[in-house]
Amino acid sequence: MYTITRQLTWPEGKYTVEIVQGNIDNVSPDALSSKYEGEFSNFQDPREAIEVALKIAEQWQKDESNEHIQLAWGDTMEAMFMLESKGINHDTIAELNKWAEAEYNSLPKCSYCNAIMPDNEDDWFSHEYCDADVYFCSEYCAEQDWEESLEYLEENGENNDEEINEKFHVEQVCY
Ligand SMILES: [Zn+2]
Repeated sequence: MYTITRQLTWPEGKYTVEIVQGNIDNVSPDALSSKYEGEFSNFQDPREAIEVALKIAEQWQKDESNEHIQLAWGDTMEAMFMLESKGINHDTIAELNKWAEAEYNSLPKCSYCNAIMPDNEDDWFSHEYCDADVYFCSEYCAEQDWEESLEYLEENGENNDEEINEKFHVEQVCY
């Protein structure tokens, strides 16, 4: 999860749009109250978060034409660390994109639809036929994958036992 805020950094007084890993607990302490769409919202996809953050920066720049809006991003370790504010230019945006891409790649994905998995592992799904490290984002995806696994086993003659079929119909999705 990623959270966007506008910060007026202390003591430098830099006008900064901040994108942090995590929820509100990870936001730096100098957040301004919400004014533009997307502030304080949670984003699952870091690539979406930076897109919205750049839009916020653009709007803020228009409203504060005497200031130079900056960007900061990363992991504050629950607001223990200050992030560095950087002026918005081609290099900064390239660096920000690279970060979002790396973040996205590091996130666990659904084995069926490839969506980013929910933050809370209690919301992950699995089924009887999949490997221990395979998870699904929803009951729907777990069921789809379970059905495909079953078809595969049937086609390969590994699932002739009606009794086993029945069993898995009942226990197909485990939480
Ligand atoms: Zn899924």
